[in-house]
Amino acid sequence: MNWDDFAHWGRQIADWGRDYHQGLRARPVRAQVRPGDVAAQLPETPPELPEEMQQIFGDFERIVMPGITHWQHPRFFAYFPANAAPPSMLAEFLVTTLAAQCMLWQTSPAATEMETRMLDWLRQGIGLPDDFHGVIQDSASSATLAAVLVMRERATGWRVNEQGLGAQGRLRIYASAEVHSSVDRAVWVAGIGRENLVRVPTQGPLRGMDPAALADAIKADRAAGFIPAGIVACTGGTGTGACDDIAATVAVARAEDLYLHVDAAWAGAAMICSEYRSLWAGVEGADSVVFNPHKWLGAQFDCSAHFIRDPEALVKTLAMRADYLLTPGAQDIIDYSEWSIPLGRRFRALKLWFLIRSYGMEGLRGRIRNHVNWAENLAARLGALDAFEIVTAPVLSLFTFRLTGQDDAAQLGFVERLNNDGRIYVTQSRVAGAVVIRFQIGQFDCTQADIDVAFDVLTELARA
Ligand SMILES: *Cc1c(COP(=O)(O)O)cnc(C)c1O
Repeated sequence: MNWDDFAHWGRQIADWGRDYHQGLRARPVRAQVRPGDVAAQLPETPPELPEEMQQIFGDFERIVMPGITHWQHPRFFAYFPANAAPPSMLAEFLVTTLAAQCMLWQTSPAATEMETRMLDWLRQGIGLPDDFHGVIQDSASSATLAAVLVMRERATGWRVNEQGLGAQGRLRIYASAEVHSSVDRAVWVAGIGRENLVRVPTQGPLRGMDPAALADAIKADRAAGFIPAGIVACTGGTGTGACDDIAATVAVARAEDLYLHVDAAWAGAAMICSEYRSLWAGVEGADSVVFNPHKWLGAQFDCSAHFIRDPEALVKTLAMRADYLLTPGAQDIIDYSEWSIPLGRRFRALKLWFLIRSYGMEGLRGRIRNHVNWAENLAARLGALDAFEIVTAPVLSLFTFRLTGQDDAAQLGFVERLNNDGRIYVTQSRVAGAVVIRFQIGQFDCTQADIDVAFDVLTELARA
């Protein structure tokens, strides 16, 4: 392909992208293919001779598109959103075109300096104090793993990186049952072990850890010879939106000298609206916080904002200072690869710059406020019907409900019927062991009319 062909296809794809997004409401939200349908259309061996872009693109539409679940569909109410606002897509196109490896300051100074400034914009946006410093990670899972590694090193006097875990005794990490599975994985991958992730009892489905139970668990562990290392709290848990009492958790962390990481991967975006910040009151006392601009805020995946109060501890845990990575003569620079697990880094800050400037903070706030208000109204409308019962009230724009008086199998069957119907897409969760239907509003192009469609589909299929 020559660069004139590249320009031609770039324009074709931009036009295709407009048509795709404008026509999304006519498509079923969740892919309707069966396992193996896509694979069956892909040749088993690679082509020996070049093929025309025309043909490749035709096959993309024919083979790939039916197997796509439309995350940018305005009636995507499953999981959490993965918004990609158009300015952030354009920035990603530029980033792809530059294809710079931004692991060190000198491998693209603009990427590093933009990242510092954009993360500071976000820090101000969500109301964190200025002693927090930000870095972009590929995902919240990576940020949480980095935090758990810092907990591990800090609690062992930075010895595990040198000596391995064997010599150190058993570390303990504390979290409620409402935290995301990425916390479990971070604890496994850090070598601490599943048995040493202590599940602190919660005070109900939407309320977080009982702080007294947390303090008791830490004290009991110390008495039994374990090494308490850190606490992971959540604001906006994945299942139902559960929120730990951050101020009370900070108090326990300080009293016990433990590192506290706050996972607000989804809910953190809403903190650009000051009226929601009570959900994480006390967060300024945490050691690190993660939230995903690639969820609700509109920055194309991947873009996870990781804020740290003491970047030195993170760098001490993760930095590799091989000769070929040093920048001779440079002072006062940041090499962000020392703040994350992978060495290589994409230029992710550009999409934040495009996004925030295109909408303004006020434009982004308006969307989130709409979603929260619509979720409250929809939960109230559904709850007023005999067919449904609300199980957990909205936390921001997430609530759960179920078909009144029906068993788990019936709830799962209902979810499947809804998703086969295609007009909306929802997922299930469990509350106190029982299946619930999980509904979140957050897609960028979603309107009140889409919520009305969702209400109609839910009531229509519940009657059927
Ligand atoms: C989505 C989510 C995660 C995982 O985010 P990734 O960026 O996909 O790793 C972690 N925690 C919570 C609360 C989440 O909602």
